[in-house]
Amino acid sequence: MLTPGPLTTSERTKRAMLKDWGSWDGDFRAMTRRLRDQLLALIGPGAEAYDCVPIQGSGSYAVEAMLGSFVPRDGKVLVLANGAYGLRAAETVRYLGRGLVLVDKGDYLPPRGDEVAAILADDPSITHVLAIHCETSSGILNPIEEIAAATRAAGRKLLIDAMSAFGAVPLHPAELGCAAFVSSANKCIEGVPGFGFVIAEKAEIEAAKGNCHSLSLDVHAQWATMEKTGQWRFTPPTHVVAAFMEALAQHREEGGVAARGARYALNRDTVVSGMRGLGFETLLEDRWQSPVIVTFFCPSDAAFDFARFYEAMKAQGFIIYPGKLTVVDSFRIGCIGQMDSHIMTRVVEAARKALAEMGVASAAPPAAALEERKKLAA
Ligand SMILES: *Cc1c(COP(=O)(O)O)cnc(C)c1O
Repeated sequence: MLTPGPLTTSERTKRAMLKDWGSWDGDFRAMTRRLRDQLLALIGPGAEAYDCVPIQGSGSYAVEAMLGSFVPRDGKVLVLANGAYGLRAAETVRYLGRGLVLVDKGDYLPPRGDEVAAILADDPSITHVLAIHCETSSGILNPIEEIAAATRAAGRKLLIDAMSAFGAVPLHPAELGCAAFVSSANKCIEGVPGFGFVIAEKAEIEAAKGNCHSLSLDVHAQWATMEKTGQWRFTPPTHVVAAFMEALAQHREEGGVAARGARYALNRDTVVSGMRGLGFETLLEDRWQSPVIVTFFCPSDAAFDFARFYEAMKAQGFIIYPGKLTVVDSFRIGCIGQMDSHIMTRVVEAARKALAEMGVASAAPPAAALEERKKLAA
């Protein structure tokens, strides 16, 4: 699976789901404790000031829990969007009835620190900034340090959707001055889907009491119960948690965030150079490209048909991902999950065969796509 979560998981991770667990049982409670501790250990210096609160559901539930719990009812959030996940966060803020200022940079252009600083200076009523670390729609790694610096300088609070980056791209919330961030089980830690987690400053969690619009998504309430009883408030995804513990063990054995990030970066470099060799071009210039997922332009050759390309890749064992650009046709290849650069070499070979089957002579993108690409350089 060349998809950015759910993704390809290891045999060992899948096998961990063969045992049943009682949610109230001491062994499962101990597992929940280890889960929280091990996730906190990944955030580096200053981790003592933070705590980790797992939340049932997919990643979006954790985003909603973070926004609903930490933004007070009279708060106002500046959402920095450059793709579908940023827009989803803005939609979440609207649902919650919190104040919203949306900066929509379109399909992929990154929100920059100076823009954030200007908006915050203009609107003192903004209390929080929400940034997307890796915007999985395009694969861009947003400039989180400059966004954090501008937010810090203006004395506002930073919330980060680090869903698709955490575990492979370093994130040090204490250095950034980040109040809270979220990720989920089925991204770079390589677990199966079923829960997300919020990592937040303890002081923020304590102050969040009574803020939340939702019973099941209340981070403070979930945290208070976990602290007191060791249990999740409502039925936890027991098998998913057991699988995640195995995934975390493999993450450690591999060498942690640095090694995971290096493997994904090699996956990316292998697929990008191989696909460029076939004539394909990437949406993003290399310096913006995350090691998580890569957007390629569809070739301009009239013989190219994405549906056929998809099926031809699938027939060779690879599930790719449609693109999300509004301006030009594209598709995406995920670099995360239990796979290495040898697999990526086979992906390129499969793409070569798929093009030959369709009779595509050149995978070069249309001129409009290359014009698009220049915008980022500007
Ligand atoms: C995966 C992802 C989410 C959450 O999506 P779900 O479908 O709810 O799991 C949120 N933000 C980003 C950046 C993501 O990559």
